[in-house]
Parts: sequence; structure tokens; C-alpha cells
Amino acid sequence: MPPREAAAAEKALRRTVIATALAMSREGLSPGRSGNVSARWRTGMLITPTGMAYETLAEEDIVYVEDNGSTPGATRVPSSEWFFHQAIYRTKPEANAVVHCHSPSATSLACARKPIPAFHYMVAIAGGKDIPLAPYATFGTPELARAVVETLGRSKACLMANHGQIATGPTLEAALDLAREVEMLSRQYLDVLMLGEVHVLDDAEMERVLLKFATYGQQPAQPPVSRPSRRRSTGKTSKH
Ligand SMILES: [Zn+2]
Repeated sequence: MPPREAAAAEKALRRTVIATALAMSREGLSPGRSGNVSARWRTGMLITPTGMAYETLAEEDIVYVEDNGSTPGATRVPSSEWFFHQAIYRTKPEANAVVHCHSPSATSLACARKPIPAFHYMVAIAGGKDIPLAPYATFGTPELARAVVETLGRSKACLMANHGQIATGPTLEAALDLAREVEMLSRQYLDVLMLGEVHVLDDAEMERVLLKFATYGQQPAQPPVSRPSRRRSTGKTSKH
């Protein structure tokens, strides 16, 4: 990419990281300024800084963290959770964005150390038959990064014991959408747990759902031709 285009692309990505963090905060997904957002960039990532209100962020506050952990040219300190963001980019080539937050219902389940089973077919949106739970490790440590990537495996999202949730995606928009879905499913699952018995869909049904999700939205649109031609055949539209 020519230098001028690369600079413009980086500026745009920095703005999208800020917009994503603001949306996360505005929607109540990251109470008390919890959470952080990053996007893959060059051989590292652009990530929100530690300890700053999202409302005050400017493009230059977003920190570029190289794969080796250095922060060339940065004026801010990156989020203390950059380890697991880095570990995700290293192990999941399809992930270009990571959203981490302590959204209320996902965090409640995570604190009860309950992964989300297939109580609703929509759990397939995270790419598997459940939304797994990463074992507990202290925040900001390489141990937590290891626990997260081992748990994510083929899943695009997970809960984190006694902590919160992580959602990944090909874009920042997709990762934020998934974080919203995980929070919604968590709230619904909490309601189901309070009602009593949980009816979990079996593996065969979830295989079917995953297959449908894999092809959903990729079907050619139905051509809207059948009705006009039928009308014509009645002779009532002969003016055409
Ligand atoms: Zn956190």
C-alpha cells in the first residue's frame, strides 16, 4: 500500500476503534469504563489505551502495539489486556477485531462459571454448539491470554471466569455485533436458569443450525417474477 494510502487507512481504523468503544459504552456493555477494543493492523494491532474515558479519546490516543509488544511512537499506554488481544491475532487468522467487555449478564454467568449451552439455536452465531467459558486467570497476564486462546479454539466468542466476555470478528462492527449477541443470549439464559429446567438442543440439531448459518445470506435472491407473469396470464394486465 502506498504510504499516503496506508496513513489514511490507519487514521480511519483508529477512528473506527474509537467509535466501537463509544458504542460499547453507550449501549451499557462496558459499565464503569471496563473493556477494551482492538483491530489488527500491520504486524500488530491498534488498541484502546488504559485508564482513559472513551469520550475523551482522539485518534492519536489509540496505541499501536507491535507483535513483540513494543509501542513505537505511542503517547499512551495500551490497555492492560493487550496480551490476550495479541494472542488472539496470533492464533486466529480470521479475526481482525476483538471486543472485550464486562457486560452485565455475560459477567454474571462468567462469575457463576457457567458456559452457555445450546439452550437457544442462536448460540451458533459464535461459531459452535455452545459459548465456552475460559478458566480464571489474573487480568492482564499471559496466563489469561493462554486460557482465552485455548478456550476460543474454533469459537468466535467466549465468557471469561469471574471477569467478562470476549467477541472477535472479521471487522470491528462484526465483533461488536457478536458482543451484543453474547450479552443478549446471556440475559436469556439467566432467565431460563431462574425458571428452572433448561432444554438444550442436541448435537445433531446444532449441526443442522451451524450448516444453515454457514450458508445463510449467501443464497441468490429469489427473482420477483412469478406474480407479474401470473397476473399477465389472467389477461387483466393487458394494458402492458
Ligand atoms: Zn476485563
